[in-house]
Amino acid sequence: MPSRQPPTSLPSERFAVDVAVVGGGLVGSAIAWGALEAGATVALLDEGDVAHRASRGNFGQIWVQGKGEGHPPYARLTQRSATLWPEFSARLGVRTGIDVGFSQPGGLTLCLSEEELATRAAIASRLDAEGGSAGMAILDRDAVARMTPLPLGDSVRGASFCPADAHANPLALLRAFHLDIQAQGGAFIPHTSVEAVRAVRGGFAIATSAGEIVAGKVVVAAGLGSAGLAASLGLDMPVRPVRGQVMVTERAAPLGDFLFTGLRQTREGSLMIGGTQEEVGFDDGTANVAMRTMSRRAVASFPDIARLDVVRCWGALRIMTPDGRPIYQQSRRYPGAFAATCHSGVTLAAAHALVVAPSIVAGDLPHELATFSADRFHVQAA
Ligand SMILES: Cc1cc2nc3c(=O)[nH]c(=O)nc-3n(C[C@H](O)[C@H](O)[C@H](O)COP(=O)(O)OP(=O)(O)OC[C@H]3O[C@@H](n4cnc5c(N)ncnc54)[C@H](O)[C@@H]3O)c2cc1C
Repeated sequence: MPSRQPPTSLPSERFAVDVAVVGGGLVGSAIAWGALEAGATVALLDEGDVAHRASRGNFGQIWVQGKGEGHPPYARLTQRSATLWPEFSARLGVRTGIDVGFSQPGGLTLCLSEEELATRAAIASRLDAEGGSAGMAILDRDAVARMTPLPLGDSVRGASFCPADAHANPLALLRAFHLDIQAQGGAFIPHTSVEAVRAVRGGFAIATSAGEIVAGKVVVAAGLGSAGLAASLGLDMPVRPVRGQVMVTERAAPLGDFLFTGLRQTREGSLMIGGTQEEVGFDDGTANVAMRTMSRRAVASFPDIARLDVVRCWGALRIMTPDGRPIYQQSRRYPGAFAATCHSGVTLAAAHALVVAPSIVAGDLPHELATFSADRFHVQAA
């Protein structure tokens, strides 16, 4: 792939597009790419490395099992995204030559006690009753042992399994989005901060550090930088940082064909161990206590992991809403202004591109998406 220098100015002085997306992480990039696919002209504006970016620090799982309990539309959107992923990633791959590493072997949540197994069984049966379990099944220890070549730890009692769980390389995905947006005639404008957005006749004037853009529609998908811009457009995006820490080991013998909660083997052979959930504000560092807890669980699952060296670790900040579900909303005060955020930007990437983006281009979020409005946080108690 040819390497591109980031532009230092806008493509033209009076730059106008159908849809401007603020935030070039996985959520904004998927929506910008999908809007182009839906026939719109698009600009994707991204502040860059100075900002907190979950899209470069995540675990890369397309995780379906257990999602959407108590909210069937979320379960359905997640499953729909996992269903769209194969075709969507293949299209990106053919166009860009980048293999985003998608594979869908199914995932296991290992349970290290009878209590954990009972909790997973209860989740599966509640999701089943709501029609959203995605085939989640409970397996005993012997069944799990047959699925992996590595010996299980003594405390493993069983697991929940979901055939829809998948994974991909999130950095390759982000790169493919940015390249293909440019190849399809969209404007990807990195190192550019959106400072203000105001409604003008027929759309929005977007003040950026590189000049002004005019857009028929604007999408605020700026992760943890969203709240202020959204508020100026009559949109509510109450997001907070939740830190996750990830450890990467040296390359290891194959773990088998399956994924595990908190443990995944990359195509290159490294094991990624992770996914703490810590309320530490904007501190995206690492902490030994969390690393110890994560590695103990990994070793309790597969004792052989204790022999591996850890070669990298990092902390990154999730973008969390009060109930953990996504927000998709069109502003009532300024129609044409949209909010989009979630804490599963890899999982939902295909849905963002092929379901959310076309609705934004059409100017109307159907009921299945409008149910993710932030209005749900303001319902008065009876
Ligand atoms: C440790 C960890 C593990 C995770 N694992 C998974 C997983 O396995 N599967 C999964 O589906 N999800 C996972 N996630 C979540 C996933 O990474 C996020 O949902 C996703 O990256 C969010 O993308 P985003 O575009 O909303 O946010 P970001 O990646 O934060 O991107 C927001 C972008 O907006 C830009 N921006 C901010 N303000 C402005 C402004 N004013 N002007 C211009 N640009 C601006 C920033 O530069 C940034 O690039 C994980 C997250 C973490 C932290």
